[in-house]
Amino acid sequence: MILDEIVDYLSCNGVSFEQNYSTSKLSFLEIGGPARLVAYPKSKYELCKLLNKLTHKAIKFIVIGNCSNVFFSSFGYDGVVISTRLLNEIHISGNSIEALCGALVTDCAVLSMSFGLSGLEFLCGIPGSVGGAVYMNSCAYDGKI
Ligand SMILES: Cc1cc2nc3c(=O)[nH]c(=O)nc-3n(C[C@H](O)[C@H](O)[C@H](O)COP(=O)(O)OP(=O)(O)OC[C@H]3O[C@@H](n4cnc5c(N)ncnc54)[C@H](O)[C@@H]3O)c2cc1C
Repeated sequence: MILDEIVDYLSCNGVSFEQNYSTSKLSFLEIGGPARLVAYPKSKYELCKLLNKLTHKAIKFIVIGNCSNVFFSSFGYDGVVISTRLLNEIHISGNSIEALCGALVTDCAVLSMSFGLSGLEFLCGIPGSVGGAVYMNSCAYDGKI
C-alpha cells in the first residue's frame, strides 16, 4: 500500500506522525472521523520535502492549520493530513513580525501588542493559524489579512 511507503519515509526522516487518528482531535470544533495518516512537520524543510514526496506519488493530502474552517467527514479521510501545528514560531524584530504558517493569529496579535506594535488587533478572536488566515483571507471589523 502506497501510504505505508509514506509511513516509512516519515519514520526514517524523524517526522512526527499518527496513523488512523481521529480528526476530531485536530478540529477546533472537535468533530470528524479518522484520518489514515496525520503528519506534523516541524520545519519548512520537512514540510517542503513531504509536499514534494506526496505530489510526486500523486497521494491525496490536505494541509491544515488550526482546522477551524475545515470539516472532515465522520467517515474519515483516506489521505494524508499535514498539520502545521508544530510550525508555530513567531519572531518580532523592530516593526516587523515574522511567523511560521502554523502560528495562531491570536498569538501573533497578543505578542505584537506586548511589543507595543499595533495593526493586528482585528485578528484577536479568530481561531485560525497564519497559513489558514492567508489562505482564507481572514477578516474581522475593518481588518483583512
Ligand atoms: C468560532 C469561529 C469564529 C470565526 N471567526 C472568523 C472571523 O471573525 N473572521 C474570519 O475571517 N474567519 C473566522 N472564522 C473562520 C476561520 O477561523 C478562518 O477562516 C481561519 O483563517 C482558518 O484558519 P485555520 O488555521 O483554522 O485554517 P484551516 O481550517 O486549518 O484551513 C482552512 C483552509 O486553509 C488551508 N490552509 C491552512 N493552512 C495552510 C497553509 N499553511 N498553507 C496552505 N493552505 C493552508 C486549508 O487547506 C483549508 O483550505 C471563524 C471560525 C470559527 C470556528
